[in-house]
Amino acid sequence: MKEQIFLDYAATTPVDEDVFEAARPYYTQVFYNPSSSHFLGQQAFAAVERARENCALAINCSPDEIYFTSGGTESINWALGGVDGDIAVSAIEHDAALGKAELLEKSGVSVSYIKPDSDGIITSEALNSAVTDATRLVCVMAVNNIVGSIQPIKQLAAAAHKHGALFFTDAVQAINSLDIDVKEWNVDMLALSGHKFYAPKGVGLLYVKRGVKLKPLFVGGNQEKALRAGTLNVPAIVAMGEAIKKAKALREQYVAHAKAVSTEFISNLNCGSVIGSRDKTDDIISVVFRGKNGYISGGKLATALSLSGVCCSVGSACSAGSATPPNALVAMGVEHADCSVRFSFGKNTTAEQAKRAAEIVNSVVLRF
Ligand code: PLP
Repeated sequence: MKEQIFLDYAATTPVDEDVFEAARPYYTQVFYNPSSSHFLGQQAFAAVERARENCALAINCSPDEIYFTSGGTESINWALGGVDGDIAVSAIEHDAALGKAELLEKSGVSVSYIKPDSDGIITSEALNSAVTDATRLVCVMAVNNIVGSIQPIKQLAAAAHKHGALFFTDAVQAINSLDIDVKEWNVDMLALSGHKFYAPKGVGLLYVKRGVKLKPLFVGGNQEKALRAGTLNVPAIVAMGEAIKKAKALREQYVAHAKAVSTEFISNLNCGSVIGSRDKTDDIISVVFRGKNGYISGGKLATALSLSGVCCSVGSACSAGSATPPNALVAMGVEHADCSVRFSFGKNTTAEQAKRAAEIVNSVVLRF
């Protein structure tokens, strides 16, 4: 098989070896149910609570404000569906938020959409023009998953609060690059997903500020204060607790590495234009390509690149296969949004891979 260069870390990341090793005993030895009151169950419980402390420390909240979930999608659905009243959602959100907003709208909730500017940034002015004093919850992601735009979360949360609304942020793509501090940002809820920061898939969390009343997501047992019933995924939670400590400790290194490899990639590209410019992370870029016969369909180009050894994506992995361009790009007013491809870099991307990938892109584009 041809060597494959993986440039799709925004879709998912590998589990770090040491994170995997930390989780291993909780599959085979300390496999007990953390809700069991006996001695062995309490060992699993203690591991879950240590992970909760790690997560709380990483985002500067109390452990009792952390609720474990199955990932970003679940946390987002819970946050948006957990409060009654009108909501305002940015137009560049992940499909989990946009899809939930659409469902809520069908059930009679009034939903307004906050427009981004051409760089994919939501300004306080845009928020103010979409939010009314009847809005109960405002949802804006911290880092966009298609173009990497960084949102001014602290200002947006303050603007939402002025309208008397709660503020929720999907920080799934922010955790590696930004110093997340829920107190400094003053957000009411925040979502994270393990598999975007070198922990396993199928685990995540929702931070809920003390005092915020959220409806239960699942009923059943008393897990997560009876708000999210269901036996906890102990090994995955342990892994996430280890991975989040590392994400925080290695943040500066991560940011410098992402800058180096994305610069290497972009400087070796002799075609395409990168979307968005100001205030963005370096680990995610979307590029529109033009060939000799006009703009190149993102889907067709990504397929051709995959056959040539570069694995990237068109929009988010969750909406792969859909014929429509990413919502975020359409909302930003990007021309030829359906002719874009997303490249995303991770801890394991090397400068050589970035250079080689750019050379492959250059040669594949020539075929169109
Ligand atoms: N939010 C953002 C910004 C994402 O990039 C993703 C994953 O692509 C999600 C939410 C969904 O997270 P999960 O895959 O854990 O359901």
